[in-house]
Amino acid sequence: MADVSAECNIKVLCRFRPLNQSEIIRGDKFIPSFQADDTVSIAGKSYVFDRVFPTNTTQEQVYNTCAKQIVKDVLGGYNGTIFAYGQTSSGKTHTMEVSVRQGLERPLLTKTNLAVHEDKHRVPYVKGCTERFVSCPEEVMDVIDEGKANRHVAVTNMNEHSSRSHSIFLINIKQEHVETEQKLCGKLYLVDLAGSEKVSKTGAEGAVLEEAKNINKSLSSLGNVISALAEGNKTHVPYRDSKMTRILQDSLGGNCRTTMFICCSPSSYNDQETKSTLMFGQRAK
Ligand code: ADP
Ligand code: MG
Repeated sequence: MADVSAECNIKVLCRFRPLNQSEIIRGDKFIPSFQADDTVSIAGKSYVFDRVFPTNTTQEQVYNTCAKQIVKDVLGGYNGTIFAYGQTSSGKTHTMEVSVRQGLERPLLTKTNLAVHEDKHRVPYVKGCTERFVSCPEEVMDVIDEGKANRHVAVTNMNEHSSRSHSIFLINIKQEHVETEQKLCGKLYLVDLAGSEKVSKTGAEGAVLEEAKNINKSLSSLGNVISALAEGNKTHVPYRDSKMTRILQDSLGGNCRTTMFICCSPSSYNDQETKSTLMFGQRAK
C-alpha cells in the first residue's frame, strides 16, 4: 500500500529547447548559460531548480530523470500530476510526449469549456469528458490520437488564437491482486498548459482577449496553488479559484507527486517571456 501520510512532493524542472531555424536565420542570440545540473543563468541572474535540462538533453534522459519515478509511484497507488508550463513553441508538448511515448496517457478533456461538477462527496468531476478502457500501450496511443484530433477540431472551430488552450490527460490505473483481491488505484494527470505569453504580444481583441485573460487567470491560480503547496501551507490552498485546480485537487497535495516542467526558448528574441517563465517556476520552489 502507498504511504498516504507521505508529504506532497513538488519538483520543478527547467528545460530549454535548442534555437529553431527561424531564430537562427533571424540571427537571435543564445542567451542561457548552464552552470550546474540545477542552475541556469540569463543576463547574470541565476535560477535554481530541482534540475535544469540544457538544449541537448534527449527525451529518454528526461524520462529517466523524472517521469519514470512518477509512473512508478502511480503504479504504487499514489496520485500524480505532470505539468508543462511555458510560452507557445517553448517545447511543452514535446516534453509531455516524454510520458506519452511510454504509453501512459488518456484523454480526459477532449472537448472545450466543460463544466466542473462535484459528486455527493464533494469530489470534483468533469461533465461530458471522454473516458476509454484500455488494456495495452497500443490502445492508449489510439486514445491519445483521438484526443489530439478532437483538440484540433475544437481549435479550428473557434479561431487560430484559440490554440491557446489547456490540455488535460488523465490515466487512471486500477490494479487488483489475483490472489488477495487487494485493490490499488493511482491517477496520473498530464497537463499541457496553454502558452503563458502576454496577451499584448498576440494583439488580441474582443472574445479572444477575454479568453486570453481567462487563460492568464487560470495560470496564475495554478501558480498560487503550487506555491502554497510548496510553502507547506495546508490550510489555505486556493484550489477553488480555477476549474483546472479544482479538477486536479486530489492529485496536487496530500497523497501525490507533482512535477512542473518549465519550458523555455533560448533565443534573445524571447528573453522577457523566458524570464517571466523562470520566475513562475521559482515561485513553485
Ligand atoms: P509548445 O507545445 O510549447 O507550443 P512544441 O512542443 O510544439 O511547443 O515545440 C515547438 C517546436 O520545437 C516543435 O517543432 C518541437 O518539435 C520543437 N522542440 C521543442 N522542444 C525541443 C527539444 N528539446 N529538442 C528539439 N526540438 C524541440
Ligand atoms: Mg503545444
